[in-house]
Order: sequence, then structure tokens, then C-alpha cells
Amino acid sequence: MKFKYLSVVLLSVIAISTFAQTKKKTATATSSVPRPKLVVGIVVDQMRWDYLYRYYDRYQTGGFKRLLNEGFSCDNTNLDYIPTVTAAGHSCIYTGSVPAIHGIAGNDFIIQATGKPMYCTEDTTVHTVGSASRAGEMSPRNLLVTTVTDELRLATNFRSKVIGIALKDRGGILPAGHTANAAYWFDDASGNWITSTYYMNDLPAWVKKFNDQKLPAQYLKQDWNTLYPIGTYLQSTDDNSPKYEGKFPGADAPTMPVKTSQMMSRGMGLIRSTPYGNSLTLDLAKAAIYAEKLGKNSVTDFLAVSLSSTDYVGHQFGINAVEIEDTYLRLDRDLAAFFAYLDTNIGKSNYTVFLTADHGAAHNPTFLADHGVPASVWQARDVMNNLNSVLESKYGIKKMVISLDNYQVNLNNPAIADKKASEYAIKQDCIAFLQKQAGVAFAVDMQNAQSANLPEALRTRIVNGYNIERSGAIQIILKPGWFDGHGGTGTTHGTWNPYDTHIPLVFMGWGVQHGHTNLPTHMTDIAPTVAALLHIQTPNGNIGVPLVQVLK
Ligand SMILES: [Zn+2]
Repeated sequence: MKFKYLSVVLLSVIAISTFAQTKKKTATATSSVPRPKLVVGIVVDQMRWDYLYRYYDRYQTGGFKRLLNEGFSCDNTNLDYIPTVTAAGHSCIYTGSVPAIHGIAGNDFIIQATGKPMYCTEDTTVHTVGSASRAGEMSPRNLLVTTVTDELRLATNFRSKVIGIALKDRGGILPAGHTANAAYWFDDASGNWITSTYYMNDLPAWVKKFNDQKLPAQYLKQDWNTLYPIGTYLQSTDDNSPKYEGKFPGADAPTMPVKTSQMMSRGMGLIRSTPYGNSLTLDLAKAAIYAEKLGKNSVTDFLAVSLSSTDYVGHQFGINAVEIEDTYLRLDRDLAAFFAYLDTNIGKSNYTVFLTADHGAAHNPTFLADHGVPASVWQARDVMNNLNSVLESKYGIKKMVISLDNYQVNLNNPAIADKKASEYAIKQDCIAFLQKQAGVAFAVDMQNAQSANLPEALRTRIVNGYNIERSGAIQIILKPGWFDGHGGTGTTHGTWNPYDTHIPLVFMGWGVQHGHTNLPTHMTDIAPTVAALLHIQTPNGNIGVPLVQVLK
């Protein structure tokens, strides 16, 4: 009996321990959701897709080439809305959504009910942290949906750390979302990285220490000369092209070297328009990774970086300039160093990076016209003044059109209501006037865009970009090659055309296949792809789909 009892006990013990072992084994394999330790989103402001290949031969091995040679490139990624501007782009990348839904209808937009202008991240209820200036009165409150970074925070019960960094406030704030631990942006007045009371009441010690190094002045003291002998910049027009390129204030010509050491007394904001702005941003990104121990957490962290200087340089010099070629060659070196930093500090197989852009940019219209390509500069201000004269004489309302920003007719709705004028009749008059203007291809009543006699691709972009409370009443579509440009030098963006909507999209690292596709992909697909990679919910305004070919 005793023996029998003992053997039963023994058998049971063996059985239980075997079961426990099996369970332990299984538990090890599935005890945590497979995720990278860190996701780094990189938005290169105004980076056209073709820059990946335009300067490819001159890139180093560790930057853009590494992304393409190790990662997965979606070579036909486009924006599906207008206006193609910075705030809408950063919002779309991180929300998988479009202005009609996410609410960021432009960098600046008009609240239609009141006629009041609104900056995308303006928030007068919060204060600057880190400077005496007002540049910190910013928050993500105008963004109406969640970001993929919000969803990561929600999915991990706020244990994941999320930080946004960009020279431009909107480039740091919108990607980091509503629930971010922090967003930092650059303050021209102090030369400091700042934030707002939306996030915190005092800068962390590491940001103060970073600011104390006065790196902007150190960079600008070096002047900006070309990285290589200027004769090797074969992808760019002659350096002295004042017809196509804007000058720095006080400079005689738009040429290299740029004597930033002599110009820096005007203020540290100068760094924005030099490649050093990108270097400085990545310096702060590295400092954030180190000080905040990003990627060392028990759950995935997320760093959202936007590199703004490419946009400032592009606007000033255009896309065919030595200055922009040099800016990309320098950015390539900075990216190589940044990826090497991630390898060392996070571990090569432990992080996922994606690199994309918020929009592209057009060739300078004068440059195109000089080479026989139809293109010209549109003068929105003159068109608006003329349109307002026509409307005033008919309806007796002064300044009926508040702005033509974002290529939209923003009407003075309170005045129209006061006068009990017919909005429909006014819109018809606007459309009739605009259709006769040089450079205008279409003028479309937003409310009826779906039935407008337009190619489907344009209709879709208008409908996706139309936020009823924040967009103008009429969408103006210019002819290809045309843009609204005051001085006519440099470049801009904002239209539906491929030069503005075709962006790079490359993923690399943990969970990512190597390869590329030319199949159509969309800016709205970025956030759901990252969500799929992380096994978290897609943002709540998302209309994109995960790019399954990218994921392992
Ligand atoms: Zn931009």
C-alpha cells in the first residue's frame, strides 16, 4: 500500500513537473508579443522620391544606399489628397488618414464658421517651455484622430515612450500624437530646443544640457561650403542661377560658399536653411535615445524625427541647385552616422526604421520654361484682389474672399450670412472668374466635387482633402508645372501633381523584408503597416492598408 501510494505520488510529481516544463517551454516561445525595441520614423521634409536615385551614385554605403540595399522600398508611394503641405503630410503618415477626417487641412487653414485663421498646431492655452518666446504655444489639439504613436502608447498602457523631434513645431508635434511623452522643436529667438506646457512644465536636464552646448552657433561658424569640389555637382544647374534661386538676406548671389559665420548675427533661425539644421536635429535624436534610454524599455519605444532643412533649402534654391544636391549628400552622411549609432546602442536586429517624406516639390517654373516645358508662376494675391473687386461690385461685400491659401477659395462666411447673400451664386461667380484665369485648369465646388467633370484621380484627391469645417469652398487646380510663387525663384509644393505627391517610402530593420515594389502604394498605408508590424490597433481615422509585402 505504502509503496503503491508513494509511486502514485512520485508519478504525479513527475507528471506535474513535466507539464510545468512543457508549459514553461511554450511560455518562453510566446510569452511576449514579438516587437522591435525601438521604431524610428524619419520624415525628410520635401524629399521627392527621385532623390533616392538622382544622387544614388554619390551616396555612401551607410545612408540612403543602406536603406535601399537592406530594406524594402515602396517605389510608387503617393499622397491621395490635396493640399500637399507639411502639416497634412506629417499627419497622414502617422494617422493613415486624410484631411477630410484628421482635420489638419493645411499648415494654415480658416475655421469656416468664423473666418478666423488657424495654424495647424496653434494652441494659445499652453505656454512655451525652454524660451521666453511664444514659439512654444503649440500642441496637437487640432489633430482630430489618433496617430500610430498614440496607438502604441494605448496598446502598452502608456509604458512605451514616444518622442517627436523636428526643427518645425508641426514636424515634431503631429507625428508624436496626443499622448506623447514629449515633442521638441527649435526656437529661433533663443537658439534652443523647446516644448510646451502641453507636455511638461520644465525641460528635462538632458535637453537643457544639450541647449547649453550652443551647437547651432558652432555649426554656423563653419560656413557652408560644398562637401566635394563644386565642379563635381553634375546633377545641378550652374551655382550662380539668380533666375531660379533665392539669395540669403545680405548675400550678393545665390552661390557657395554660404558665409553663415558672417550671417549668424541675424539669429540662429538661419540654421534651418542650411544642411546643419538636419545635423542638429539628428544630434538631438541621438541625445534623446541615450538620455531617455529609448529601446531599453520592457516594451517598444518610438522616436519620430522630421528633418526640416531639406524643405527650407528646397524652397529657397529649387530642386536643381547645387545647394539641394549638397544638402542631400550631407544628409546621407548624417543618416549613415545615425544608423551606425542605432546599431551600437539598440542593436542591429532590434530596431525598425522607416524613411518617407511629407510631400515633394516642383521644378522651378522659369527653369522648366527655359527648357521648353510648359510651366509658369501663378500670382494668387493678384487673382484674389481682382476676384474680390468683381464680387464687391456685385454683392456689396468687401473682401469676400479671405484667402486663396492651399489653392482654395476661403469665403467670408459670416459676411455672406449677414448680408443674406446666396453662397451658391457667389460660388458660381468665383468659379466662372477663376476658370478664365491663366494657369487654372479647374475650379471645383467642394460640395459637388464627386460629380465634377474631372479625372477620377483628381476627384479623389479633392474629396480626401476637403474638411468641411476647415477647408475653403472652391478648390483651384492649376495646370501642371504651375505654382503660386511670389518671387518666382526656388520652389514650392501643394498640388496633386506627381512632383508634389510621389514620395520615398523605405522600411529597414526588425521585421522587414528586403526588396522593393513598383505597385501603387499610398501615404495612408504607412501607419497601418507600422501598426501591423507592432501588433497594435490601427489609428482611429485610418483608411490605408498594411503593406504585407514589406513585412516578414
Ligand atoms: Zn514639408
